[in-house]
Amino acid sequence: MNDFSNPVFVISLIYIILFGLCVGSFLNVVILRGLAGEDIVLSRSKCPKCSNKLKWYMNIPLLSYLFLKGRCAYCKEKISIQYPLIEFITAFLFVAAFLTFGMCYKLIFIYIAISLFIVMSVTDIKKYVILDYHAYILAFLGVVYSFFDFSGLSLISSISGAIFGYLFFEIISLIFKKISSYRIFGEGDSLIALGLGAFFGFRNLIYIIILSFILQFVFAIPLLIKNSIKNKKPKLTMAYIVIVFGIFTLGVLNMAQFFNLIDTFYALCVLVVSFFMLIALWILILEIKNKIKQNLDNNISDELSTSLCALPFGPALLISGLVCIFYLDYIKLIVKIFFNSN
Ligand SMILES: [Zn+2]
Repeated sequence: MNDFSNPVFVISLIYIILFGLCVGSFLNVVILRGLAGEDIVLSRSKCPKCSNKLKWYMNIPLLSYLFLKGRCAYCKEKISIQYPLIEFITAFLFVAAFLTFGMCYKLIFIYIAISLFIVMSVTDIKKYVILDYHAYILAFLGVVYSFFDFSGLSLISSISGAIFGYLFFEIISLIFKKISSYRIFGEGDSLIALGLGAFFGFRNLIYIIILSFILQFVFAIPLLIKNSIKNKKPKLTMAYIVIVFGIFTLGVLNMAQFFNLIDTFYALCVLVVSFFMLIALWILILEIKNKIKQNLDNNISDELSTSLCALPFGPALLISGLVCIFYLDYIKLIVKIFFNSN
């Protein structure tokens, strides 16, 4: 299918790259105006610093950034690396999807989904917000996607996935809020799960959620180390790291046993790792209880997030969704082996 000696294929590929760059450029506008609460009207872009309208040749994806050496042509203000980066990532993912699925109607849905994943990740990382309508568009897209049977999912699976995704994060958040006056997941996370559930269906959403928790653990480690150095709380960080590496060690041991690589040391290793994990978990729970008590006393509702895990959960969910577009079968296999289940 991917025949690089076929001129039609090569021309299609070049078109996809250009198309991806243009869409990426459009996504920058969607993000910028979405966060500013402006409409996405097709007025000419302007420099956020000096407000001069950009000429067409200053607005060419990727190339303009390179020619202008990353600075505004009028006021020489630095242009954020976000713009070329998003253009590049969009084009890259569009090409990857084209090489994976080929030229087909399904590709339209995949492209819209990828675009929404990028937009929601960036708004969440930059301003800790998910705009409701971005998630609703994803959910609607998912339902239409399964209705036309492009995804191989039934409509029921798509709708139940959306409901399950929303309720899963909403119920955990509400329970946590009841005991601590703090929502552990943002409202945006429930909405993302709603969209992902509609797009991937009930069963696949479970894999996405598992993967997103693993990713979140990994993303959080460097930040936690930085925070604990700043706040002088090494105990908390150590506890956290022991738990994370404990989970991974148990997973690796499980894999080794799955392939019959070890027998005798298996039980002993699991015992030792579990012991340290329990101690670490105990320290972590004490610390969280402390923090919650402080927050309740001082009437602070959002400080827990910055002290424990100052990362929005949305990007982990969205990246998991993205990974599942391309590697769903591998993810299923890894999760099954990780938990040593059939
Ligand atoms: Zn300027």
